[in-house]
Amino acid sequence: MSIVANKPEPLLYEMSNPGAVGYSLPDCDVPTTALPNHLLRDELPLPEVAEVDVVRHFTRLSQKNYCVDLGIYPLGSCTMKYNPKINEEAIRLFGMSQVHPMQTPETAQGALQLMYELQNYLGEISGLPGVTLQPAAGAQGELVGILVIRAYHLARGDSARNEVLIPDSAHGTNPATSAMAGYKVVQVKSDARGNMDLDDLRAKVSDKTAAIMFTNPNTLGLFEEHVRQVNQIIHDAGGLVYGDGANLNAIIGIARPGDLGFDVMHTNLHKTFSIPHGGGGPGSGPVMVRADLAQFLPCPLVAQENDAYVFVTPERSIGRIKSFWGNFLALVRAYAYIRSYGKEYLKEIAEVSVLNANYLLALIRETYDLQIPERLCKHEFVLNGTRFKKDFGVSTLDVAKRIIDYGYYPPTIYFPLIVPECLMIEPTETQSKASLDEFADALLKIAEEARTNPRLLHDAPHDTPVTRMDDVKAAREPILRYRPSAA
Ligand SMILES: *Cc1c(COP(=O)(O)O)cnc(C)c1O
Repeated sequence: MSIVANKPEPLLYEMSNPGAVGYSLPDCDVPTTALPNHLLRDELPLPEVAEVDVVRHFTRLSQKNYCVDLGIYPLGSCTMKYNPKINEEAIRLFGMSQVHPMQTPETAQGALQLMYELQNYLGEISGLPGVTLQPAAGAQGELVGILVIRAYHLARGDSARNEVLIPDSAHGTNPATSAMAGYKVVQVKSDARGNMDLDDLRAKVSDKTAAIMFTNPNTLGLFEEHVRQVNQIIHDAGGLVYGDGANLNAIIGIARPGDLGFDVMHTNLHKTFSIPHGGGGPGSGPVMVRADLAQFLPCPLVAQENDAYVFVTPERSIGRIKSFWGNFLALVRAYAYIRSYGKEYLKEIAEVSVLNANYLLALIRETYDLQIPERLCKHEFVLNGTRFKKDFGVSTLDVAKRIIDYGYYPPTIYFPLIVPECLMIEPTETQSKASLDEFADALLKIAEEARTNPRLLHDAPHDTPVTRMDDVKAAREPILRYRPSAA
């Protein structure tokens, strides 16, 4: 935003000043050759502007955005934590930022060593020693995990299993992944305490069950109280257990999914291990598996042979799923994050994130309705806005939009799908007590406004460059590039 509220903000294309350039190149000191004509365009209508104009344009745009460096970003299920600047120092090291994907392994031993050690750390943290760093995000990790599970069943000559069980509180990527891998999705109900309903699970498991896929803690922010039993039921039926590791933040250093009976899981490095995300990445979603499943992992993995680090392809690999070596700089940041805590202190991530969520909850729970009131939360909690809707005519969307006016990014809303008028808050361990107090204060004021002046919420946000957007129109008629007529 311009510091003068109504100062017009020019668009880059409209600032074009023919002849202006943002670079200067030295004279060419090598022989020139004409480029093939068919590769050349006659016209390339790019704005002609000086460097300073480009910088101002993008800085202006960046200031219209909210970011975790500005304040709390309590997006439930997404672990938007502060990204320590030491991570950025690490990726700027010459050997990290300038290593080329086409370099031979002998010339990039440091990079391979970092990947090798990160594989080991993730194996240790999860209790699942087979690790691939290849997947570009959690969702791609899910696909890898389910393809590994399929490869396992097929390798045993069992091709009859065609179902994946998924609880009704699941993240949408879980059923999408299963369907993409060719499986039928079978839904398992949640019970009144927010656990998976064991009777429903028993009724749905069969010799067609290839796997169950679930998040622990689940998307209600609750630890699955019968996790071992669930996993036993699936194993007894010959299926495998896939853990969606997006909520690892709540248990890291305290409980290892491998010890709880999970066979395969992904971790979202960009959630649990910091790394800027949002807007689609770049992220990283490594997959960890039981030792006997490592033979199916995608290639390449990093191994140590005769004092050197090398790329290897597992014996029955499902193949390549990403070009080159994963999102390397995301790996470097996660490595730096893990090393800055160290083995001994890693569990502070979980302890403080759970403490922060429960503290924030305690400040607002008299005013907002917790979905499962009889249980304390883990690293996030889920509120039910039905009463606000009924008593004040105010929806969870209205509350979320009003939060923007108080200068915060709104929490996740309308997910998980099983909670009506859902508001899901995850503060993370990187918030101070003062910032939690301020955020709680804003939530309490908004609840008061809902009662006394609901109009304020219906029309929110009031002070942003754009106010309520027409979601439907934006989805049906998206404008994805500059068009003079649309400006
Ligand atoms: C974020 C998330 C995913 C998907 O991960 P991406 O890295 O965004 O692809 C899957 N499951 C849960 C529970 C999540 O929160």
